[in-house]
Amino acid sequence: MKEADRVADLSGLSICVLGGDRREAELISGLIDSGARVSCFGTPTDGLRSEAAVAPSARDACSGANAVILPLSGTDSSGNVKITSKPVSITRELLAAADPAAIVLSGVVRPCLAADCAALGVRLVDTGEDDELAILNSIPSAEGAILMAMQATPFTIHNSNCLVLGPGRTGLTLARMLQALGAHVWGAARKAPGRARLFEMGIAPVDFADLAHCLPQMDIVFNTVPSLVLDRSLVYLLKRTAVIIDLASAPGGVDFIAAAERGIHAELAPGLPGKVAPLTAGRILARVIPRIIEDEFGKGERKVRSLDEEHRPGR
Ligand code: NAP
Repeated sequence: MKEADRVADLSGLSICVLGGDRREAELISGLIDSGARVSCFGTPTDGLRSEAAVAPSARDACSGANAVILPLSGTDSSGNVKITSKPVSITRELLAAADPAAIVLSGVVRPCLAADCAALGVRLVDTGEDDELAILNSIPSAEGAILMAMQATPFTIHNSNCLVLGPGRTGLTLARMLQALGAHVWGAARKAPGRARLFEMGIAPVDFADLAHCLPQMDIVFNTVPSLVLDRSLVYLLKRTAVIIDLASAPGGVDFIAAAERGIHAELAPGLPGKVAPLTAGRILARVIPRIIEDEFGKGERKVRSLDEEHRPGR
């Protein structure tokens, strides 16, 4: 199946990439293909296109940039970029070196970054909110969650009872993959439309209020809800042999202390796309981030390239 899609036109734009891992080399390649000039700092140089300028400092990389891109994981609470080969601290002074009409893109928006951007009048784009990015990222995330479950269990996913909490972008992809592996899949949704979608997919819908009835039968529970949904009393309803894989952003949605007390294997599993499929995850960034920047700058014409061509491993 091919889905025709458009390649962004970023010609004339200067883009700064700060930090990142192997995924950023793919992103930078996508930005260059879109016609942008790219300077970077703190990004691994392995696999980096020769057209990318490796700046001697974060400030040099930012200087005059129309867009400043931080990794999907953004900064920590002190403003330091989380994934970087050299320390990068995102300060107001650093961002002030960019073009006055610049945009800043980050997958996680901490209050200090939001405050600095607001003070400078710089547009801050939360790439973690982008549906295309989240849906495409749900594929390596779901594969990674299943890998973790396989490693933590002495039984097959096939014929096991699996519960997915949260029928969002990640939860639905995961539920469908589990179904395809032959698991018996339940899905918990707090709203009726979410349960209707699960029912339509052939997944047993459960209301969060009724979790207590289905938990004792579960072999594996996957959480995608970023709130405490599997609290102490619910954890204690699980079999001791059950496994919990929590994909939700830290601190997750599981009472891990209760799970440890009960001897249940429970893991928080952050950043799965970058861990299990960095090439695909990088190509997803290379596809989506140029489109987001183009949308932000309101540019027009794009060229055509197919989705599956971009994601084919041998490309
Ligand atoms: P999403 O599309 O917004 O889905 C979140 C789901 O959680 C929705 O179904 C939502 O239901 C439900 N939900 C939210 N708050 C709830 C509550 N208090 N009680 C019950 N249900 C609630 O988000 P997503 O893109 O799937 O991402 C889900 C989480 O996984 C996020 O924390 C994201 O950062 C994380 N994530 C992690 C990885 C990884 O590698 N570990 C990869 C991708 C995403 P409603 O529709 O009712 O609001």
